Amino acid sequence: MTPTPDQLLRAPKVLLHDHLDGGLRPSTVVDLAREVGYTGLPTTDVGELAEWFASDMPRRDLVRYLEGFTHTVGVMQQKDAIARVARECVEDLAQDGVVYAEVRFAPELHTDGGMELDSVVEAVLEGFESGAAAAAEAGRPIIVRALLTAMRTAARSREIAELAVAFRDAGVCGFDVAGAEAGYPPTRHLDAFQLIQRENFHATLHAGEAFGLPSIWEALQWCNAERLGHGVRIVDDISVADDGTVTLGRLANYVRDRRIPLELCPTSNVHTGAVRSLAEHPIGLLRRLRFRVTLNTDNRLMSGVSMTSEMAAVCDAFGWGFGDLEWLTLNAMKSAFHPFDERLAIINGVIKPRYAALSAEAVRTDTARG
Ligand SMILES: [Zn+2]
Repeated sequence: MTPTPDQLLRAPKVLLHDHLDGGLRPSTVVDLAREVGYTGLPTTDVGELAEWFASDMPRRDLVRYLEGFTHTVGVMQQKDAIARVARECVEDLAQDGVVYAEVRFAPELHTDGGMELDSVVEAVLEGFESGAAAAAEAGRPIIVRALLTAMRTAARSREIAELAVAFRDAGVCGFDVAGAEAGYPPTRHLDAFQLIQRENFHATLHAGEAFGLPSIWEALQWCNAERLGHGVRIVDDISVADDGTVTLGRLANYVRDRRIPLELCPTSNVHTGAVRSLAEHPIGLLRRLRFRVTLNTDNRLMSGVSMTSEMAAVCDAFGWGFGDLEWLTLNAMKSAFHPFDERLAIINGVIKPRYAALSAEAVRTDTARG
């Protein structure tokens, strides 16, 4: 019962790890570059630009991978441009079958045109709101919340954490730190994470993507991160013997016992070189061991993915079906920085009934094929 492309598109999805500046439409990059006078694009032809983003992968190197962001961030320095990108992001996710998403961005990267940090956040939230309204009108209701990201290599994390808390009732659901891992341990931003904790707010943290166990350990035990952005290197603490016996180290046990969500982004990991191929991606093992695995896009433009394509990819690589996809989706909804009663409402009112209907449909199709 392999899900068909049409069924995968209709399957309800929950997305916890997606970067706003990593998901622009190529046509929007070109439009905005013209409007704001950004001249750095490799080409102003939409088709060629789409090709440029696609053909530059796989890059197999995180630092190189991040270069694509120069262009997207370059055209997101004005209020209207940011709001447009945010609105289209919500529309694209809704089109992709996403019912709940947390989309992250780093306000400090959008101040080159003179915008203040809070205006950047306001512009994004405004875009999210109009995108959600348009999606609801089109019969695809979606809830989108923002995560504010501080850059690991900069020194503004405390300020960004304060900003996240200030906007907590206006659509911001948590705090994150991102950027090149090597040489920038999460503990450099301890005061920001302590602030989040004292405010009873939420934090996730990019850790254990290209870098190993120490960054995961620091994220959890020093920064009190509730989820791990990627966290895929937790497999370094898991050994599988020739006879199939699996042994978990103390950190891996802790992560699994405490049900700490892993925001896994399989295709992105392959493109950045963190993992060699999708078939070898640890998501297969981690799912089998019942870690709290979630499936995510990371950067839809740079990796050329959607939630639908990512679902298709893991079904293809691991022979998964609707049962696995529902499990991943429920894991993500349970792990969302969203109020408990509202999470339950989405789980029981949207995710479970829609997967039940899809599974029943798949059985009927199978029987008919007989
Ligand atoms: Zn990320």
